[in-house]
Formats: sequence, structure tokens, C-alpha cells
Amino acid sequence: MYNKTMKFDLNRLVRENVKTLRPYSSARDEYISDGSEKIFLDANENPFNNGINRYPDPQQRSLKAVLATQKELNEDQILLGNGSDEVLDLIFRAFCEPKIDNVITMPPTYGMYGVLAAINNSVNREVLLVDGFVLDEKALFENIDGNTKIIFICSPNNPTGHSFPKEQIRNILDKFKGLVVIDEAYIDFSIQKGWLSELSDHKNLIITQTFSKAYGMAGIRLGCCYASSDIIAILNKIKPPYNVNELTQQRALQAVSNTASVAREVKMILAERGRLEMALKAMSFVRKIYPSDANFILIEVDDANKRYQQLLKKGIIVRNRSNQHLCRNTLRFTIGTPEENDSLINALTNLV
Ligand SMILES: *Cc1c(COP(=O)(O)O)cnc(C)c1O
Repeated sequence: MYNKTMKFDLNRLVRENVKTLRPYSSARDEYISDGSEKIFLDANENPFNNGINRYPDPQQRSLKAVLATQKELNEDQILLGNGSDEVLDLIFRAFCEPKIDNVITMPPTYGMYGVLAAINNSVNREVLLVDGFVLDEKALFENIDGNTKIIFICSPNNPTGHSFPKEQIRNILDKFKGLVVIDEAYIDFSIQKGWLSELSDHKNLIITQTFSKAYGMAGIRLGCCYASSDIIAILNKIKPPYNVNELTQQRALQAVSNTASVAREVKMILAERGRLEMALKAMSFVRKIYPSDANFILIEVDDANKRYQQLLKKGIIVRNRSNQHLCRNTLRFTIGTPEENDSLINALTNLV
């Protein structure tokens, strides 16, 4: 799967049933409004206008038009979903033949890749990160076989907060002839530039982003997938027709038209992260503060279960990541508002 003579062949990666599938054609797919006054009696909707009585645009064209401009892509390189979780699930369903194909993930990382592999009955080959959360390229390539369809790289990574070196990722993109999904859920917090500008150089690259983190819209459930138009066309074939609802499309459209406010909030969150880091440095039960390229901090403490329970008693809920590989006695703190961070610092300072 990664020898130099082999070429990337998308057709070989797609599941047979997806290749031959005739997608559902919805009423709103068949007739696309040109903006002129029409009478819509095609979709069995309630005719009385309340703003949401019509089915939403299955292709979210207004939203994609803005995103395409901002991300410097074509609209046919974008697929939107009900959170990135749906997008990731669609990728599994398009490419991983149940019981036959496998994917590679690199724990400690986002737990949904493994869950989605299980749901889709595909083997999740875990190539563990090594000390310092370093990606083990040798082990990675040893684990690839003819049925390895996807490698998931989360960068910046959750729960560690670190980003992988670009050269390492580029090497994987160049050598692996399956798909590489780079999950950029936290890219807006990162000092690294993301991979969007390199999409045209790598036919096997899929980038996912989300409105749940920097955009502050976890409640609307909107995830983005950026890839070649060929990959997007395959995912489009299998997506539920109305997977992004009208209210979500409207709110997202407002948000993408106001990027200044997102940038302002990201700046504040990063400043707060620095402040929390400084405060943590002075605490005796904190063993290690992992450098973060995201909107959370992973720390190692003396006794994570004890500290977790103590914070819980004070009404502060953090994430105990101690069960994860290389994460013994770690807690993950999301950066909150300045007031929330004050409360956290205050609570931590008074722990005995
Ligand atoms: C939070 C997060 C997401 C976002 O998922 P949504 O379904 O879009 O809310 C995706 N990937 C990672 C690694 C995350 O931590």
C-alpha cells in the first residue's frame, strides 16, 4: 500500500455497493429554485410560511459559497454534515468494507474514530504514539496492508493538545496510497497553518473541521469536510439528503459572515490559556503541563482521580484522561471564560 510504484486510485478504495448505488433524489434536488416566484407543490410540505416549513437546501449552497471563498476552494470540494462526527461516519461508510477493511488511528487521540470503526465493523489498528506523543512512523507503515483504507491524524490532537510535525504528515500523505483524514477541529487555535492550501497536491487528503470549537456553535451541529471533488462526490452520494437543517444553515451563514468575532474570541481564549498555564506552574501537585496548540490544556498531576473528585465537589467538571495511553494521572481542562478560569484557578489553588 505504500510502495513508490503504486499510484493512488480512488476507484479501488470505494466500496463496491457505493460505486453502484443510485442515490435518493429528493424533491429539492430535482428542482433548484432560480429565485423567481414559483409554487412549490412537490415535497408534501405544509404550505404556510413560518420560516422553516420548507425542506432545507440539501447542498447548502449559500453556506458553501461563502466557505469556498474563505477557504479558497471550489464548492464541489466541500461537504457539510451534522457535526464532524457525521462526516467521519460517512467516510467510513463510503470506503470501509465491513469485516474486511481496516483503518489506523494513533492513540491517545479522539475516541470517535475507534467508535465509528466499531459501528462500521472495521478493524481499528491502533499505532500508539511513543513517549512525548511522537508519531511512530515505522510502526505506522508496518501496520499498513492491502485493506488499510484510512489513516486518521488529529492535529492539533485531542486530548494531548499538540500538533504533529508537518514533514511527518507530508511523508505519510506521499507514501500511503489510501486516504489520510486530518482532523482540524482545533486548527483555529493553532500556531500552525492547516492543510487546506495543500489539498490540490494530495489526492488522498481529506480535511475535517467543525463549527463546534472556535466558532462557538457546538449546539447547531455542523461539521465540514474538504477534499478533492472526486472524494466529495462519493460522500455526497451517500449522505442523508437533508443532513444539515435549515436553522443550522442560517446560523452558520451569519457566523461565517462575522469572522472578526470568532478571531476576537480565539484571541481571548489563547490569552486565557496562557494565564491558566502560568497559574498551574505554581501548583505543587501539578507534575507536568503539556504545551497546547488548542483551546484546552492537558496536565499531569499527583493523583488525577483525587483531584478530579475534589474539583467535582466544588462544582467544576473537567476531563479525566488517565485511562488513555501515555496519559496516566492526566486531567484535561477546557479554557472557559475569564470568570470560569478564575474559579478553576481558585479551586485548584485551595486543594490540599
Ligand atoms: C470536538 C472535536 C470534533 C468536533 O466534532 P463535532 O461533531 O463537529 O462537534 C472533531 N474532532 C475532534 C478531535 C474533536 O475534539
